[in-house]
Amino acid sequence: MSFYSTNKQTPVVSLKEAVVKGLADDNGLFMPSQIPQLPASFFENIEQLSLSEISLEVAATLLKDEISKEELRTIVEDSMNFEIPVVNVHDNIYSLELFHGPTHAFKDVGARFMARLLAHFTQESKKQLTVLVATSGDTGSAVAAGFLGVPNINVVILYPSGKVSDIQEKQLTTLGQNITALEIDGTFDDCQYLVKKAFLDKELNQKMQLTSANSINIARLIPQSFYYHYAYSQVKAQGKPVVFATPSGNFGNITGGLLAKRMGLPIHKFIAATNRNDIVPAYLQSGHFIPRPSEHTISNAMDVGNPSNFARMMDMYDNSLEKIREEIIGYRFTDEETRQLMQEVYQQFGYTLDPHGAIGYGALKDYLKDNQELTGIFLETAHPAKFIDVVEETINKKIEIPANLKRLLEKKKESIKMSIEYEGLKNFLLAKV
Ligand SMILES: *Cc1c(COP(=O)(O)O)cnc(C)c1O
Repeated sequence: MSFYSTNKQTPVVSLKEAVVKGLADDNGLFMPSQIPQLPASFFENIEQLSLSEISLEVAATLLKDEISKEELRTIVEDSMNFEIPVVNVHDNIYSLELFHGPTHAFKDVGARFMARLLAHFTQESKKQLTVLVATSGDTGSAVAAGFLGVPNINVVILYPSGKVSDIQEKQLTTLGQNITALEIDGTFDDCQYLVKKAFLDKELNQKMQLTSANSINIARLIPQSFYYHYAYSQVKAQGKPVVFATPSGNFGNITGGLLAKRMGLPIHKFIAATNRNDIVPAYLQSGHFIPRPSEHTISNAMDVGNPSNFARMMDMYDNSLEKIREEIIGYRFTDEETRQLMQEVYQQFGYTLDPHGAIGYGALKDYLKDNQELTGIFLETAHPAKFIDVVEETINKKIEIPANLKRLLEKKKESIKMSIEYEGLKNFLLAKV
């Protein structure tokens, strides 16, 4: 399988190159050159397969000419090793709980798979690789936990001092081993700027191999298709067409679903649900894609003003507004509407939504009003405890913090403080060579 760039200005590359590079030389995003079909027998028996069996089948169908099925089995079993249950909330509405991984957000899936795939490729070359990642909170912790203890890989996380929650900071700063947290005296944008500058620094890149682990890496996208298959397997017996509602920011999660559909998964429709940062729903309505600076909301992991995976979505639909409208419907919700949904679902059904999942739920409920013959699944992308302040004040109830997060709060933070001067970062990285 080769991978092309969505900008189509560079030659195709191998999986290894696509994963190590992250972004193509022409700044495009990598996509598989052809999307293979899963056999009909896979879907006939899917309800009898486990999450890792389903994941292995999908991964092998896509990647088997570059990695053997046995090696993929190890990667899949090490990364998809937590529950992803489908839970009925009420009537024909189901929650796909993607938050049972080590950092309690769906990003665990992509980060864990990517870490093991990178380790597989670096093992061959025996080179040390440094993963550099700027984070506003959730991505850094999933990436750090995903790479913890992976041989030949060092992870350096840059986070803005005083601008992440206590739990998030502990998730970034207490791991030790091959993970280092740099506490930057600046904003998330400063962290991102420093990382970009490091990737463009020729001298640095000659002396060390740097990789990015942000959400545009194809190795994070592919595993995000696995759980759409697994969710389908859990509702298949109902015999109704299935729609998915995905709370979206950078649109990587929903693009994983589009990939699943292209490989043959019978998905009736996709619902793209956003907060006030509604660039894609606005595009679906008007036909104009107009990025703008992001606005802060209570579903802050979706505060994205220029969704990077939009390029992949458009590429999959040949840049046709008409085609994309046939399969994807957009919804947007304000913070006030999000809070109302959280209250309503807690009071009526005893189910606690986090602010991101609430947006997926709200979009699904609105869509199903006129489409009652369908089975609807929304993606619950984070554990409510990750957004404990918003959730507790909204539903007016104390929520249980998962044991591993509670333990973290007692651990000692270890970070290296740095200013926003690039020389500081550069010297730190060079000292590691
Ligand atoms: C990152 C994130 C999202 C958005 O996912 P995208 O792939 O960027 O669309 C939604 N919810 C949570 C909790 C997240 O961490």
